[in-house]
Amino acid sequence: MSFEDFSAAGATDIVNGEHLLLGGTPPGWKGEYQVCPAPFYKRRYTWDGDLIMGCTIGCDFCYYRWINNSVDTIGKGKRGLRKIATPRRAVQFLEQSKLFKAGRDIIMLAARSDGSMQVQEITEFLRIFPHESPVFILHRAPFGERQLESWGGDSRAVFCTTITPDSPEFRGSPVKPPQQIAGLKRLIEAGISARRISVMLGPLNSNNVAEGVKTIEELAEMDMKFLTYRGCSVGNLGIAPENDKLRETGFLDGGQDEKSSPSGHQYYKMKNWLSAEVEEAVLRAASDNGLRVHRHTGTLYRDEFGMPIAYNRNNRSRSGELGQWGKVNPDRIEKYLIWLGYHPRSIRETEEGYLVELPPNEVATEDVAMTVGCEFRTSVLFNNHRIAPTLGDLKFYAKNHLFWPLPKGWETIKG
Ligand code: SF4
Repeated sequence: MSFEDFSAAGATDIVNGEHLLLGGTPPGWKGEYQVCPAPFYKRRYTWDGDLIMGCTIGCDFCYYRWINNSVDTIGKGKRGLRKIATPRRAVQFLEQSKLFKAGRDIIMLAARSDGSMQVQEITEFLRIFPHESPVFILHRAPFGERQLESWGGDSRAVFCTTITPDSPEFRGSPVKPPQQIAGLKRLIEAGISARRISVMLGPLNSNNVAEGVKTIEELAEMDMKFLTYRGCSVGNLGIAPENDKLRETGFLDGGQDEKSSPSGHQYYKMKNWLSAEVEEAVLRAASDNGLRVHRHTGTLYRDEFGMPIAYNRNNRSRSGELGQWGKVNPDRIEKYLIWLGYHPRSIRETEEGYLVELPPNEVATEDVAMTVGCEFRTSVLFNNHRIAPTLGDLKFYAKNHLFWPLPKGWETIKG
């Protein structure tokens, strides 16, 4: 389905397998079975998952507002929260999914939610998860004593927070930066290393970049070492964004290219858009204050956390941002792909990385491509590639246990 077709998708359509894993069947689903979301719904640089889905904070610019099977979970109070999996089931999901490898892979918890709404569940996850993988906990609400006590003693836990600079022209989140900064100070004063704190600054645009610069100065004063920054994204999976409201609250600043969706995506209308002026201001402030900054998360995970990453993204090499991909014996890639259930016909080295030719009936999704690239710390491209799995691709996932187990009833869903 092209993006244009997809924009017209209805409020009860399921457009692909990732969409189903993300939110399950949407309200009003006419089919016989209601399907639950999966504990982890995608694997890019990290495994994105949740124990509880939904968020009472309700930022105006939250991605999940524009997705038909998550819209009811955002900003709807506690009644919007959905229990997805027990911590034990989530751990089992990872351990049974062939694409997951302990020690190599990063877990991202509260990807469709906020960690503040599931402190107890995350604590239990950490307690029973026996592997050395880092666990990034997304948590916009200010960190407090409870989080410190629950996660501070586990060196795998990374305290992650998104700070959205607030200005009279940009009011998008009820969570305000001064409280967030106070929470971060609390962590540092309690002895949590700045290496275990990951701040995302954004979404940024011309309406809040001046406040963003002040936030950078404050973080540097606290002796933070790095941060990631990001622009604005808008999507549509069956729910059209309220553009008037986004303009009124300053998220859309009038200077963005609102039609700059990357090709191949079914969700994004505009992805991580940042003007050159805004980016320059961020880079200057970071450099003046001795803070390392990351535009993309690949360099964050590799350079700040020492984790292996794929050098391919969306079936292209990312050597422009990540540097040169490494050399590997193609036989090793072939063996790994066969283990995953593929039948590669050939693998040859190209300027962009190792190009795998699959038979016409086999497709490598981005979940697979990023796993293989990460396994060999190189760039692996495919003749047949898709960013998100289709519902048909989930059959391949199930047959080969790439993600496993899939939510009950998944096979009954037709797009
Ligand atoms: S805190 Fe995160 S998950 Fe919650 S509404 Fe805001 S953007 Fe969405």
